[in-house]
Amino acid sequence: MTTQPANLWTNALQELQRAAETLGLSEGMYSILATPERELSVAIPIRMDDGTIRVFTGWRIQHSSVRGPCKGGIRYHPDLSLDEVRALAMLMTWKCAVVDIPFGGAKGGIAVNPAELSPAELQRLTRRYAAMVRPIIGEERDVPAPDVNTNAQVMAWFVDTISMMEGRTSLSVVTGKPLNFGGSLGRESATGRGVATVTRQLLRRIGREPEQTTAAVQGFGNVGSHTAATLYEMGVKVAAVSDLSGGYYRPDGLDIPAMLSYSRKHPRRLLEGYAAPGLQNLTGDEVLELNVDVLIPAALENQITAQNAGAIQAPLIVEAANGPTTPEADEILNRRCTLVVPDILANAGGVVASYFEWVQNREAFYWEEDRVNRELERIMTRAFEEVWQFSRERKATLRDGAAMLAIQRVVTVWEQRDIFP
Ligand code: NAD
Repeated sequence: MTTQPANLWTNALQELQRAAETLGLSEGMYSILATPERELSVAIPIRMDDGTIRVFTGWRIQHSSVRGPCKGGIRYHPDLSLDEVRALAMLMTWKCAVVDIPFGGAKGGIAVNPAELSPAELQRLTRRYAAMVRPIIGEERDVPAPDVNTNAQVMAWFVDTISMMEGRTSLSVVTGKPLNFGGSLGRESATGRGVATVTRQLLRRIGREPEQTTAAVQGFGNVGSHTAATLYEMGVKVAAVSDLSGGYYRPDGLDIPAMLSYSRKHPRRLLEGYAAPGLQNLTGDEVLELNVDVLIPAALENQITAQNAGAIQAPLIVEAANGPTTPEADEILNRRCTLVVPDILANAGGVVASYFEWVQNREAFYWEEDRVNRELERIMTRAFEEVWQFSRERKATLRDGAAMLAIQRVVTVWEQRDIFP
């Protein structure tokens, strides 16, 4: 991981402070928003396969439940720290508010390298963690989901643990479950589809047809590949994509469906060795600096930095990854009048699909994929339009506008509910 976790929390607080000043929030309201509502730290002992005992540290942090049950992923990473989880929990509050779904924000995780554990050890770790955070989670309290290094299998163990402890099958306690065990159709492609929907709205707003638009997508994993595929369906010329194996460029547009089926056959889902007529091989860095209309970083954090921001030619950037632009790079891009759609808006399709999964679990009625995609498109389109309007009215960047709109929504409900007792 390239992010320095300590900075993530400092940055999150600085962004909140800036928005709070512009919105004219009181000192008291700033303090409420700057402090997570509830923090649980757990020491998780597990018996390893060789009979020894190890103790791992885990957290569940609820930043805000003012707009609804908390929502946010569970991350397994050796460098995970309390401050990083705090920052990610706060960002979830803003992300749910910006797309206006009825959730607050939370995040959790364990400081562990899951690659060093056997499947049985990973299962024991997950179940013990689930049991230890159980007092503060639940379908109307806090609804976890997968994040870095956790997946549908981890969520299935999580649900099973809670269900066994409660004596009932409690599907809506987490989202991101396997499809045949309470999961939702369309969940896997939702983040990428949301990114593409937001990109299309941006193009509409600046009066550009998808067919006249070229795009470069960094990353061809879950988010990048579905973004590229949906843009391709919309008629956008996806001229370049990159992954860990390098960059692939064809000025007239790549055959994204062919690249998708190629990468799916690769053991690590890479494009390594992909060849096609007119295809040029580039480095990953060169893909970021191509002369295209839209650049979509969909790989990792901190990819657009003070070092390369000046070389970026695309006038539009849609942040599919979390935190792909450093604050210094953001300033450079603003000076160059590059329009940046921020991550909290652009990649919110995943949490919107989680919301749909939760709704379906609670109704015990499952939607067709078409319905998921349609509702997703509606919510993402509306969110983009609201952020666009709000930013224009405030003469703010889309990043500041999205943050201010989200914070204002949280504040409005705080004022309506007022302080108990
Ligand atoms: P993933 O692991 O499926 O894919 C990551 C992709 O990036 C892979 O194709 C990998 O080869 C590529 N990559 C890694 N390093 C690279 C580099 N230096 N240059 C070019 N490509 C590189 O991950 P994902 O789920 O697609 O997530 C991508 C980003 O989107 C992350 O920042 C994640 O936090 C964010 N995000 C994901 C979701 C989701 O639903 N999966 C939701 C919101 C945000």
